[in-house]
Amino acid sequence: MTQTARVLNGIEIAAEIKAEVAAEARALRAAGITPGLAVVLVGHVAASEIYVRSKVKASAELGLRSEMLTPPESVTTEEMLALIAELNARDEVDGILIQLPLPKHVDTRRLLEAVDPAKDVDGFHPVNVGRLQSGQPGLRPCTPAGILEILRRSEIPVAGKHAVVLGRSDIVGKPVAMMLLNAHATVTVCHSKTVDIGRYTRDADILVAAIGKPGFVTAEMVKPGATLVDVGINRVTDAAEVARFFPGDLERAAQFEKRGSTLVGDIHPEAFALAGAYTPVPGGVGALTIAMLMHNTVKAAQARRGAAAAGA
Ligand code: NAP
Repeated sequence: MTQTARVLNGIEIAAEIKAEVAAEARALRAAGITPGLAVVLVGHVAASEIYVRSKVKASAELGLRSEMLTPPESVTTEEMLALIAELNARDEVDGILIQLPLPKHVDTRRLLEAVDPAKDVDGFHPVNVGRLQSGQPGLRPCTPAGILEILRRSEIPVAGKHAVVLGRSDIVGKPVAMMLLNAHATVTVCHSKTVDIGRYTRDADILVAAIGKPGFVTAEMVKPGATLVDVGINRVTDAAEVARFFPGDLERAAQFEKRGSTLVGDIHPEAFALAGAYTPVPGGVGALTIAMLMHNTVKAAQARRGAAAAGA
């Protein structure tokens, strides 16, 4: 068992990536190209509004141009398709992000497929999914790409390791599994129908948990010395739960007292003590997502308009 698990600090890694993105955006601007991001936010979902505001703020900080389009909750699929067509046609828009979830009456799949794959900074378009699958360059989904950046920049070896991914969503589980496979890991994907998940997790050199179940992975489910990547973001509002997850953690208790909630990942904090390295919640994977969105927007601008400015 390792004595002290190394903390993989997502905030520091995100800051590193943002500094690189700002430098690339500067180079593009010097060539007369300001990378542009259009964020479409439908209706008034509080959590979505917070995410979108952070995306717009990060764009401004890094020298990207951003715009927010806010169709009403009542918007139809046809109206959204017309809006996307307009954004596809505008040359100064390099990235199009449709904030999910959309209202139920809107055909989300159709809209995501209508986005020009060259502007698909979320990496959700089937063309980009296919490019990831076949190992070709393309825009990659932000959270999984952030996970790979954490591993790479922390010099955690991936090739030849057994990576176990919990969760098979299109947004996290499947793309991260494919990226780990492309990076030459041996990959196992577990999901809600997997029988005896511990049997797989106990053999994982790298364990990525993305299921949305607070503290699901317990200490007896991990291999000592493993790298634990916790994607889960679960808000806990029950004091007894907080005490169960963070016994004796006065800082958490004070935070809970102040805010009435705290965030817990999908990995029980007790398991981190056994790890070789782990991403904390908060301050781990979550910190990377916006940095990777900014990275994708600049990459899209370079690919679409700025080959010369990017030195390509
Ligand atoms: P999702 O779409 O709800 O998918 C959850 C996945 O977990 C599904 O594949 C599901 O299996 C599996 N699952 C659920 N319960 C399970 C169980 N008891 N045992 C094994 N597998 C189980 O969730 P998501 O969008 O991938 O997000 C997962 C977590 O990551 C959430 O906490 C979310 O908040 C967080 N997240 C964080 C970021 C970020 O850091 N920026 C970004 C995205 C998501 P089935 O397929 O069989 O149903």
